[in-house]
Amino acid sequence: MSHLRFNAVEKAFSKAPLALETPQERPESFYAVNVFDREKMFQYLPAEVYKELVNVIDNGVPLDRGIADAVAKGMQKWASEKGVTHYTHWFQPLTGGTAEKHESFLEYNGKGGVLEEFSGKVLVQQEPDASSFPNGGIRNTFEARGYTAWDASSPVFIIDDTLCIPTIFISYTGESLDYKAPLLRSLRAVDKAAVDVCRYFSADVTKVSAYLGIEQEYFLVDADLCTARPDLLLTGRTLLGHEAAKNQQLEDHYFGSIPERVVNFMRDLEIRGLKLGIPLKTRHNEVAPGQFELAPIYEECNLAVDHNMILMSLMQKTAKDHGFRVLLHEKPFKGINGSGKHCNWSLGTDKGTLLFAPGKSDNDNLRFITFVVNTLMAVYHHNGLLKASIMSATNEHRLGANEAPPAIISSFLGTQLSAMLDALEQCGSEALEGGRKKGLKFDLPQVPEIMVDTTDRNRTSPFAFTGNRFEFRAVGSEANCATSMIVLNTAVAEQLVKFKADVDELITAGLSPNDAIFKVLREYIKECKPIRFEGNGYSDEWKAEAARRGLDCEASAPKLFDHYLSESSVRMFESMGVMNRIELQARNEVKWETYTKKIQIESRVLGDISLNHVIPVAKEYQKMLMDSVHRMQQIFDADEASELAADNLRLIREISAHCKAIVDNVHAMVQARKRANILESEREKAIAYHDEVESYFDVIRYHSDKLELIVDNRLWTLPKYRELLYI
Ligand code: ADP
Ligand code: MG
Repeated sequence: MSHLRFNAVEKAFSKAPLALETPQERPESFYAVNVFDREKMFQYLPAEVYKELVNVIDNGVPLDRGIADAVAKGMQKWASEKGVTHYTHWFQPLTGGTAEKHESFLEYNGKGGVLEEFSGKVLVQQEPDASSFPNGGIRNTFEARGYTAWDASSPVFIIDDTLCIPTIFISYTGESLDYKAPLLRSLRAVDKAAVDVCRYFSADVTKVSAYLGIEQEYFLVDADLCTARPDLLLTGRTLLGHEAAKNQQLEDHYFGSIPERVVNFMRDLEIRGLKLGIPLKTRHNEVAPGQFELAPIYEECNLAVDHNMILMSLMQKTAKDHGFRVLLHEKPFKGINGSGKHCNWSLGTDKGTLLFAPGKSDNDNLRFITFVVNTLMAVYHHNGLLKASIMSATNEHRLGANEAPPAIISSFLGTQLSAMLDALEQCGSEALEGGRKKGLKFDLPQVPEIMVDTTDRNRTSPFAFTGNRFEFRAVGSEANCATSMIVLNTAVAEQLVKFKADVDELITAGLSPNDAIFKVLREYIKECKPIRFEGNGYSDEWKAEAARRGLDCEASAPKLFDHYLSESSVRMFESMGVMNRIELQARNEVKWETYTKKIQIESRVLGDISLNHVIPVAKEYQKMLMDSVHRMQQIFDADEASELAADNLRLIREISAHCKAIVDNVHAMVQARKRANILESEREKAIAYHDEVESYFDVIRYHSDKLELIVDNRLWTLPKYRELLYI
């Protein structure tokens, strides 16, 4: 019998590491060679055009169509010299991943031949054939088509023979159909609001940027083993499979050396990433066997998101070359840690100040506390929405399980910063009075020591302060983290606007700016106290405590999406100019629809492999057992035979029981799908898939995993956990 599993295992374990063509040069000489960055702009564009383009990039002024042709020409020259023949508008549709439609530079030359041309018009705007992208009804409502428009703040880059132009995707009536447009709007909102608040502390700040450093976790599985697992191939996770006897108990993978095949993959990926201007810095093993992490140096938020999107597809491509498959799913394996995408987020001024870093003077420290406290307020007031922003059918598996992070948003500050906020809160009006007399000399506890406090980080906290930034750890490994950055930036922007209004009101009433700031902060510290939690986020006590504090404890993704449409969320997005109600409604339709589709696919795959792989193999083994019982009866007398066959008879019955349970539950699950499919509302359908369909997964898996332990190893067709995880 040809055996897919054993063939795959044999291939997987005999694969030699791919020989690498390591570049002779040092990274600085090939960094960003495939990016049309400022250096190349300077080299390929006329001086005037270069200057104008830099102004567009740095200050967000609209691109003058007059220079677009010159920019396109320079770009094309550079790209042609690098062998490029095609270009594409590269965008991030709501379905996830990235989309591109390649066009060659070819045009008729009017003399019966062709020439290569790239005009400003096609650089700046295009109409992708995008009717197939879900849009939550926006285009039906407006009978409008969508177009893509160049985001000059993210440089164009080359992949293979194609010039990729980062674009936003937007309907003709102005509604965003992607992730990038609202992200850019949220960045503008937080920039403006933060600059206004910065002015209390230093008059010269003109721009505040959000920075993002993304730690990307992932699993590597051998490509041949993956091919033998329909669930991994089609859903990115194992729907069945008994835990290996040894998984992450010993934590030996985290500290172990990286296997050579994997190191070669990582090196190759790093070289390709560096050439695309992605500043990859960190690589290491993660806790689970087969799990790894990489992280670039942090960048401006929009660029960091683009780079992460490029990186995710680059990982898939590079993995293929090395005989691997990358699993970006948040929970590919039961019983071992899933993967996240830790988003290290901070704000910084054009003068180089990180706003979440304490400084040397009291003025610096008051500014530091101002930004920390306002962020806590934003996270507190929109904790449900922030959780909705990281929710998906795939990330749902990871949250709330006993691994980072819990399904409740709270913030960890560390002992010193916590103590400092407590002290500030308790300061009576005497402190305020004293503060006024001494000018800036508030009784602020020593802030700079916080820097020492980065060691006792609480790994169970979903939103932790880590020295000079916040780390949002609940984001899923597969996600486009623009989704959560849009909410975070917008919520902080809204909060900073409110802060300024509150402070200005007190100033108008006669308080000095510092007294006013101090007074408002003390009120805020009291108000947002429920979001602060320093304890163990996995504990049951915390769940009860969080509910008492009024924090959102919902764990069902389709219900959490409702947060996007709550009045406070709509008000926030609309007042900050990030999204309007129609966009929010349309996006939610897409979220619910995508949720349903994912669970529907998983449910079908689970049904298929249960009935086509597991049951036939179990029955075959059962038949072997029955044959053996028969033979015993032929050889031995009745008493002896029944004694000798007892074990086999027990197994035969067990197999029947498990098979029956699987078949019954698969059928019931199919009926549940049918009931869900006829529901009109996308929301109700998604909820039905969550409550009625997915609820069968565990019980089907339970019986299948039991069969895996019973059935002769030689018959089992699906690669087992121990084979998948130990490459
Ligand atoms: P960890 O100890 O959490 O692994 P790392 O030092 O590996 O931390 O950093 C994680 C990520 O945080 C990196 O991408 C790093 O560049 C980024 N980072 C560091 N400082 C900041 C900051 N101020 N703002 C945003 N990201 C930052
Ligand atoms: Mg980290």
